Amino acid sequence: MSQTEKILRKEQFDRDDLVKLLNTDQQERLLLFKKSEEVKQSFVGNKVYFRGLIEFSNRCTKNCMYCGVRAGNTKVIRYDLTDDEVLEAARFAHQQRFASIVIQSGEKSTASFTARIETLLKKIHEATRHELHVTLSLGEQSESTYRRWREAGAQRYLLRIEVSNPELYKKLHPDNGKHDYNRRLEALHTLKSLGYQLGTGVMIGLPFQSPGDLADDLLFMQALDIDMAGMGPYIEHHDTPLYRYRDLLLPRKDRFYLSLKMVALLRIMMKNINIAATTAMQSIDPQGREKAIKVGANVIMPNLTPLKYRENYLLYQDKPCIDEEAEQCRGCLEARIHMAGAEIAWGEWGDSDHYQKRQAGVPETD
Ligand code: SAM
Ligand code: SF4
Repeated sequence: MSQTEKILRKEQFDRDDLVKLLNTDQQERLLLFKKSEEVKQSFVGNKVYFRGLIEFSNRCTKNCMYCGVRAGNTKVIRYDLTDDEVLEAARFAHQQRFASIVIQSGEKSTASFTARIETLLKKIHEATRHELHVTLSLGEQSESTYRRWREAGAQRYLLRIEVSNPELYKKLHPDNGKHDYNRRLEALHTLKSLGYQLGTGVMIGLPFQSPGDLADDLLFMQALDIDMAGMGPYIEHHDTPLYRYRDLLLPRKDRFYLSLKMVALLRIMMKNINIAATTAMQSIDPQGREKAIKVGANVIMPNLTPLKYRENYLLYQDKPCIDEEAEQCRGCLEARIHMAGAEIAWGEWGDSDHYQKRQAGVPETD
């Protein structure tokens, strides 16, 4: 029996095991993917849940070193969707039986921004007869803001830790209170205490990031007991400070396979959570999202942002689907998902089984 097979038989992986599995070669990684596929089929089945993604605004007060829409990038044309545009996208999702949407934007914490999101949440629920579940991905906010949004009808929140190693976090963010690792961690705990379905995730293949860091990221997500994960490869953007370290990066294809391994490992470690097949996977491999679904992901986020804004929400270079209308995007994804042998769960919220058990206080059993 190979070393990989021996590790894959264990009930729990330690850091060393994870590093070894992340380092598996082309042949051995197939064993990992086979195992994660089996776990996926037994615990979450064959269904893929749609979350219509609305990139609400690219205005951001932060300056993360990796992100194309960071405040310091003066080349970006800034936009905010109108209420009507958001409602139209939400109605489209509802009509198409997506059952869930994600509202994402740069980070802003002004009173007017907070109030606008609160009002929009109420309007969305009214317009869709409370039949849509809403995920927010609007960065770090105060406890009272998170509470207001929760009370206005947001069920889920996605806030990536980005990297769980505080030292690495410091290298990738400006050294100031606005980009503080502990603040981000605290925000994640606050979200959980307010009853949100909690999602986090990391970027994979960053400069200065080691396999040990990625192993720690997986253990971090497990210890935080998250309900959802969104992970994908880091992709460089030429108008960001991190671009100068591009020579330190793994080739894109390797970053892609590392990301697939992360998805597969997380599926084995956290069997009944929701895991997204992220757009960044597709920007490296045209079939990236289908491959992620095959090895463990069960959520996909078709882009519903009006076309005219998409080229201004470029977090990284070569972002796919920036020229496809929502209707086209739906058709294209549907075909791709069927090709991956999965089935779309039309009209189902798809709250993670993990969250439902966590809320009900049911202990996890393997
Ligand atoms: N502003 C909010 C935040 O940071 O949580 C939400 C929007 S932000 C654009 C969403 C995610 O984009 C971030 O969590 C980050 O992981 C990802 N991202 C930013 N730049 C990226 C890059 N160059 N490559 C891959 N992912 C990137
Ligand atoms: Fe702003 Fe989010 Fe980009 Fe950071 S990752 S610069 S918070 S949009």
